[in-house]
Amino acid sequence: MVTKVIKIDRQHMDERLLSEAAEILRSGGLAAFPTETVYGLGADGLNREAAKKIYAAKGRPSDNPLILHISAVREIEPLVKEVPETAAKLMDAFWPGPLTMIFPKSGIVPSETTGGLDTVAVRMPSDPVASRLIALTGRPIAAPSANRSGRPSPTTAEHVLQDMDGRIEMIVDGGPVGIGVESTIVDVTGDVPVLLRPGAITMEMLQEAVGPVETDPAVAGPVAADVKPKAPGMKYRHYAPKAELALVEAAVSEQTGEAVISRINQLTREKQSQGYLVGIICTDETKDCYPEGIVRSLGPRALQETIAHSLFAVLREFDDLGVDYIYSESFARDHLGQAIMNRLTKAAGYHIIYADKEERHG
Ligand code: AMP
Ligand code: MG
Repeated sequence: MVTKVIKIDRQHMDERLLSEAAEILRSGGLAAFPTETVYGLGADGLNREAAKKIYAAKGRPSDNPLILHISAVREIEPLVKEVPETAAKLMDAFWPGPLTMIFPKSGIVPSETTGGLDTVAVRMPSDPVASRLIALTGRPIAAPSANRSGRPSPTTAEHVLQDMDGRIEMIVDGGPVGIGVESTIVDVTGDVPVLLRPGAITMEMLQEAVGPVETDPAVAGPVAADVKPKAPGMKYRHYAPKAELALVEAAVSEQTGEAVISRINQLTREKQSQGYLVGIICTDETKDCYPEGIVRSLGPRALQETIAHSLFAVLREFDDLGVDYIYSESFARDHLGQAIMNRLTKAAGYHIIYADKEERHG
C-alpha cells in the first residue's frame, strides 16, 4: 500500500483534502491525523474490521483497547450506557481537550475496539484538524497513538511516516502537535474518579474540578505480572526507545545537582570507553555540564510544557542516531511533571539510578 501524505493548514483548512481522509475512514481504511496531544492512527471505531487493522498496523496486542474520538459532546450518547455526574463535570471543564474518560460501553461499540472490555474510552479533541475530520467522517474515530507498538508516540507527521509508511492509506500532516504527551485518562465508572494515565489535564486540575481523585497504582510503578491493570496498556513496556534508558536522580538533596551531573558524566565515560554511543537528556540549565555523549536539552527546567513537548522527539532522535545507552536527568513530579515522569520511567523500564547511592541491581 502507498501511504499518501496530505498537508493541512490549520488556519485555512482545505475541506476537500480533509474529505478525502474522511472517505478513507468511512470506508474502513486507516488515516493518521494530528490531535493536540500526539498524532493518532484513525479508523472507524464502530467497524470491527477497521479496528482490527489498527492493531495490525501498529503491531499492538489486541487486548490493549482504543480510545474513541468524537467532535461534539452529544456524540457520546450512543456509545455509553450512562454519563456519570462526575464525568459530566469533567466534560464541562475540559472538553474539548486532552482528557479521556472511561465509561460503561453501549451495545454498538464492538469488542474489537475495547480490547474485549465492557468499558469504552472516549475523548473529544480540541485540535481543529482532528475535530473537523471526525465531523466530516460522521463516526466515532478509534485512534491510538500513530506509532508502532512500543515506540515513542509521534509528535510530527514525519514520525508517523517513519513508523507507518506503507501500512496505512493516509497521513494528514497538520504540523507539529501542541502538547506532545498523550491524553490524561480518568476512569469515571466508580464512585471516585481514578487517574489511569497522567497527561496535560493534571491531577491538580482534576481535583479542582471534581474534588478527590484516586491514582491507579500502575501510574507510579511497574505492574506485577499477575495483576490485571485497569488500563491494559499499562502493563506493556511503552514509549520505549531502542536504547537502554536510565533515569538519574538524587535520592536526597536537590533535584538535579552536582551529584546527578557527575554520575551521568561517569556513566557516559564508562559506556563510551566500551565503544557504546551514549545520549544524555538534560535541561537548558545543565546542557553545558556534559562534555561527552550526545547531549539534548528538553528546554528550561521550569517550563514543563516545553519539556513534555520535546520528550518523545528526543527519544526518537536517539533511535535514529543508533544510540545504545541514554541517561536522563529526572524531573519534578507535580502538575505536568507527573505525565513527564510517568512516560520517562516507563520508557526506562523503571530503571532509576540514584546519583548519591551505590546502584542496586534488580
Ligand atoms: P493510546 O491509544 O496509544 O494512547 O493508548 C490508549 C490507552 O487508553 C491505552 O493505555 C489503553 O489501555 C487505554 N484505554 C482505552 N480504553 C480503555 C478502557 N476501556 N479501560 C481502560 N483503559 C482504556
Ligand atoms: Mg500509544
